[in-house]
Amino acid sequence: MSENTLQLTKSENQKAKPASDQVPFGTTFTDHMFVMDYEEGQGWHNPQIVPYGPLELDPAAMVFHYGQSVFEGLKAYRTADDRILLFRPDKNLQRLNLSSDRLSIPPIDEEEVMAYLQQLVSLEQDWVPSTPGTSLYIRPFIISTEPNLAVGPSRKYKFMVILSPVGSYFAGGLKPVIIHVEDQFTRAVKGGTGMAKTAGNYSAGYQAQASAKKKGNADVLWLDGIEKKYIEEVGSMNIFFKIDGEVVTPELNGSILKGVTRMSIIELLRSWDIPVTERRVAIDELHRLYEEGKVEEIFGTGTAAVISPVGELNWMGRKMVINNHEIGELSQRLYDTVTGIQTGKLEDPFGWVVEVK
Ligand SMILES: *Cc1c(COP(=O)(O)O)cnc(C)c1O
Repeated sequence: MSENTLQLTKSENQKAKPASDQVPFGTTFTDHMFVMDYEEGQGWHNPQIVPYGPLELDPAAMVFHYGQSVFEGLKAYRTADDRILLFRPDKNLQRLNLSSDRLSIPPIDEEEVMAYLQQLVSLEQDWVPSTPGTSLYIRPFIISTEPNLAVGPSRKYKFMVILSPVGSYFAGGLKPVIIHVEDQFTRAVKGGTGMAKTAGNYSAGYQAQASAKKKGNADVLWLDGIEKKYIEEVGSMNIFFKIDGEVVTPELNGSILKGVTRMSIIELLRSWDIPVTERRVAIDELHRLYEEGKVEEIFGTGTAAVISPVGELNWMGRKMVINNHEIGELSQRLYDTVTGIQTGKLEDPFGWVVEVK
């Protein structure tokens, strides 16, 4: 265990909190943030909670040039009896270290950082909104800060956690989305960085997302980068198919992000004795099953929306309308159960939630 001690500098003024049904995602931040530094030879040190504010970085800081940058995303939820719950935060810190490993960033001590993260959320607990569907989004991230233009791993880093209250993803209830199956651009390939939550993966998708949006789609479904045949995932969601009573999701292959929601949905389905298989799913196989009338539901999974039903897939000019653009029964049941556990409305038989004291 580390010998670091957390230093707290309180903010002198408190910002006004927005009405929780009126916050656009990711633009409002709380009064404080967590910062910790790394230096080669010294390790992670100087953990601090300080007033939220801009950073001063050298223009040669390596993150600006070579992109050593990883992040996580999780949420804190307020229960009806005013407790604050986190959903499987240990999985996010584990994954942060997996992403860091891929990007040659030194690992954090997961237990130590878990304690800091909880102290930050505890200090900012008045920022956790209470309207149903709202939460406090938690964004841990690491950037390389050594001023050096030589290509290679930085010898200095900053780990930070910022917090942002977020409104309901689906203000008017679960709404099925239209998704374009991307057959030109690639997000990730096996052996690349697809399994890491690293900055460049997302900007690599912007062009495809922009052209899909122009054609009326909400996002893109990525296929494998080599054959453009096997289904991978959507923007920042994993994908599931209910086919002929069975649930299928693409198996983790090194280029797909291992979602905490994905993992939880699989465990939940198994506990309900609903068959779920992780395997390769080819887009032409899906289309054939669709033509046979066997594709019953499709949904994306991720921290932001939990479950995002897919109402339509567009692939090379072919349109697949799923469940008549309506929410499937299983999608709704999964959504209700996961959000119920997250907000303390339902019992948590899996030990997924962690209370912040
Ligand atoms: C974060 C993310 C997901 C979903 O992961 P969760 O842990 O469930 O939030 C899926 N795909 C990508 C590319 C992501 O960045």
